[in-house]
Amino acid sequence: MKYAPVALNKCKSYDRDTITELIKTQFEAINVNRELINGKRIVIKPNLVMNKPPEFAATTHPAVVTAVVRNLKKMGAASIIIAESSGGPYTEALIKSHYKSCGMADVSHNEGIDLNTDTSFGIMQYQEGVKCRTFNVIKPIIDADIIINICKLKTHSLTKMSAGVKNLFGVVPGIEKFEMHARFPEQNDFVEMICDLCSMLCESKEMITVCDGITGMEGNGPTGGTPKNFGVLLSSRSPYSLDCVCESILGFNGTVPMLNAARARNLAPQSVDTIDVIGETPESCKVSELVLPDTQKFNILRSLPNLFGGKAAKFFEPKPQIDRNKCIGCGVCERSCPKHTITIKNRKAKINYSDCIRCYCCQELCPINSVKIKQNFIIKIIQ
Ligand code: SF4
Ligand code: SF4
Repeated sequence: MKYAPVALNKCKSYDRDTITELIKTQFEAINVNRELINGKRIVIKPNLVMNKPPEFAATTHPAVVTAVVRNLKKMGAASIIIAESSGGPYTEALIKSHYKSCGMADVSHNEGIDLNTDTSFGIMQYQEGVKCRTFNVIKPIIDADIIINICKLKTHSLTKMSAGVKNLFGVVPGIEKFEMHARFPEQNDFVEMICDLCSMLCESKEMITVCDGITGMEGNGPTGGTPKNFGVLLSSRSPYSLDCVCESILGFNGTVPMLNAARARNLAPQSVDTIDVIGETPESCKVSELVLPDTQKFNILRSLPNLFGGKAAKFFEPKPQIDRNKCIGCGVCERSCPKHTITIKNRKAKINYSDCIRCYCCQELCPINSVKIKQNFIIKIIQ
């Protein structure tokens, strides 16, 4: 099978003109041209997971979105709209506040493009789905001819890495994402479901993925980590190909669960060497001394999922723990927990671990990073 090529360039700053030129070069390299774009309705799907400004590196930088928009306009796009369903509820007020703090309102104002505030959604079917065949999807994605998936390169507590494939989970409206976590509590099932979603979108729409890896995130991503200069910008017609190159750049070769699920379906190559990478080589862009999420550092048993029928692995898995000194009792984690296992008492969050599925949504969405990851004491002793 021939996998889609990936354009990879080094890029050290968020200078809009520099990125606009780089995107032009990359789009030419992967055959994104006037013939493809002219007259089409385009939806841009950035990563706006949280209400944080661009310098926190949790969200797609507005300079990259600007650069993509400028290129699409030159190629004759009929309409361009930015749409995203962020981490919390899918409400107009929340979407608007994310657009403002993440810099998308400025992109809209400066470049004259629309921001989606319609919170309706529809159903998309995928009969070939391995774990999931029906998805609720936000309306601008359903209406578009072409999806421009502009992701951020980050480490991720649950899925190890977040780039092109994982970014597409944001087309599922609001708190339905938590329900998907509850429906697929095992990591293997969850990543298969994400592959179903990604493949459904790639097969029903034209998909172009751009990765903002200029300043990415290391540590407790996707929201609680630390910005790190990865210095790369990537584009591809396949999110799977693009993610394989990102996996190699971060030194994760063959260990990102979503990509291994994709490899088993022949959607991604076994080795990055079989992808045509245009521009720089992944080797020349390798990131050194990357800090892993705490969940991945501690979780040595995740590689042994069948130990004691898989049940022991859950017992040994790192668990979320509330830092009671920091917690302000805002209730975001309580509302985000797919298993409803968090309660707020005396203005402090409390977790009932018997129902906890270790999805780490609470850690991802706590606005002040007061959910920490605690290692099992036996694993600690072994280590
Ligand atoms: S989201 Fe964070 S600050 Fe808010 S209640 Fe939960 S742990 Fe506390
Ligand atoms: S407590 Fe946290 S990790 Fe456990 S199920 Fe709830 S959101 Fe997921």
